[in-house]
Amino acid sequence: MNQPKTIYINEKWLAFSEKVKRRDGKCLQCNRGPGEVILQIHHNIYITEKAPWDYAISDCLTLCKGCHAKEHGLIEPDRGWSLLSIEDLGGLDGTCERKGCGAEIRYEHLTYHPNWGYLVVGSTCIEHLTQEDRLLSSNAIHLYKNISKFVHSSEWSRGTTQKGKKYISSTYKHHQIRIYGEELFHSFQLVLKEKGVRWHDFGRVIQAKGKSTLSVKELAYITLRGTLSDSAKEKKLLRNIYRALNNDT
Ligand SMILES: [Zn+2]
Ligand SMILES: [Zn+2]
Ligand SMILES: [Zn+2]
Repeated sequence: MNQPKTIYINEKWLAFSEKVKRRDGKCLQCNRGPGEVILQIHHNIYITEKAPWDYAISDCLTLCKGCHAKEHGLIEPDRGWSLLSIEDLGGLDGTCERKGCGAEIRYEHLTYHPNWGYLVVGSTCIEHLTQEDRLLSSNAIHLYKNISKFVHSSEWSRGTTQKGKKYISSTYKHHQIRIYGEELFHSFQLVLKEKGVRWHDFGRVIQAKGKSTLSVKELAYITLRGTLSDSAKEKKLLRNIYRALNNDT
């Protein structure tokens, strides 16, 4: 449970940085490769108000963490940072890297500035992010807390279908989540129900092989929230969280 979970990743940055790393394959300064050092992206130029992934690939180089730190000056930019991901450490196991802060943090916000590089900061120290990023951060953390709360504290009961198939179930806003099968061989199903209507709307059975019961509970709940949500932004966030959790074991 205390395994770190990345709850939001900026896909555009991921795609862009992978292209640069694939082109170079190693740190262009010290020639060390991905097995020895952490590879990062460095921008040769900086254009104000431009997102870090909206540059030409030729504007960027691959450097290791150490060489990258030496490339940059001492004055941390106070604008133009982008939020790349938020990692939930499960406890106060992280440290905010922002100068003069150093607070113990649970949610590591990985941020990036083309004229500076990477910085990991906490949720109370994100004033250098854009308004939209700040909102995204609090929404992501809020959703993630809901998922965790639901999975651990909602009441799960046992049931049997008319055909004799066993399941465990829980409800969210009078809709039901059913989880079939054994640990690592689960599948789940959403049963949607309009309030005051007797019939149940059975969704398709989704396979979740190789997942623990806990993970399947998380995935099922996120799927239900995504199905019920009418906000495109929230749906996208839930999809990112689903993808991050689905890649865990
Ligand atoms: Zn750099
Ligand atoms: Zn290097
Ligand atoms: Zn801080």
